[in-house]
Amino acid sequence: MRKVDRKNYVPDLRGAYEDSPQKIGYNATISAPHMHAHACENLLALLPPADIGGAILDVGSGSGYLTAVLHHLAPHATVVGIDHLPQLVSLAKENLTKDGVKLGVEKGGVEIVCGDGRLGYPPHAPYQIIHVGAAAPEIPQALIDQLAKPGRMFIPVGEHTQDIWQVDKDEHGIITRTKLFGVMVRFSNPDPFSG
Ligand code: SAH
Repeated sequence: MRKVDRKNYVPDLRGAYEDSPQKIGYNATISAPHMHAHACENLLALLPPADIGGAILDVGSGSGYLTAVLHHLAPHATVVGIDHLPQLVSLAKENLTKDGVKLGVEKGGVEIVCGDGRLGYPPHAPYQIIHVGAAAPEIPQALIDQLAKPGRMFIPVGEHTQDIWQVDKDEHGIITRTKLFGVMVRFSNPDPFSG
C-alpha cells in the first residue's frame, strides 16, 4: 500500500491520507484504507508466485486504487479490474496512469475493462485471487467457476446487511465458504465498503 499514492485516486486531496472512504462520483466510493488492508491481508496467502505469473481479478474496481495495490503485491501477474460504469473505467485508467502503473494486457500489466463483474472476466481466467468490491445478493457462480485451483475470493454478500465471505477452491477443486465479518451498510449508500 505504500507504493500506491492515494492522492492519485481521490477527488478530495485533503482527505487523501485519512482512513476514511470518499465519494468518487457515479454513486461509487473509494473504500477506507483499513478495508483495503483487510482484503489484502486475507488474500495474501494465495498471491500467485512469480514463476506462475497468474491472474488476479478486482470486481468493482472503481477508482482503481485496490487494483494498483494488487498489482504491486503480485507484479508478475496479470491484474484485471472490471467495473460496469464506463466513466469509472476511464477514471481508473487515468488514476493508474497518474500513479505510474503500466496499463496493458501482458504479464505484469494492469487491464481495466467495462462489464458486469458478476460474470467475471473469462479471457484471463482462472484467477488465483478474486476481490469483489461490489456487494452481491449471493456469491456469483461464474466467479467461483473462474477461481484457480487453488484460489481465493473475498466478497461482500447480502442486500440490507452484508457479510464478507471468503471462498476457497483447493487444488482438487473443492470449495469452502467461510464468513469472515459483517460490515455496516447505510441505506443511502449501497457501497459495502463506505462506512
Ligand atoms: N474498490 C473500489 C470500490 C468502488 S465502489 C475502490 O475502492 O475504489 C464499488 C464499485 O463497484 C463501483 O465502482 C461500482 O460502479 C461497481 N459495481 C457495482 N456493481 C457492479 C457490477 N455488477 N459489475 C462491475 N462493477 C460493479
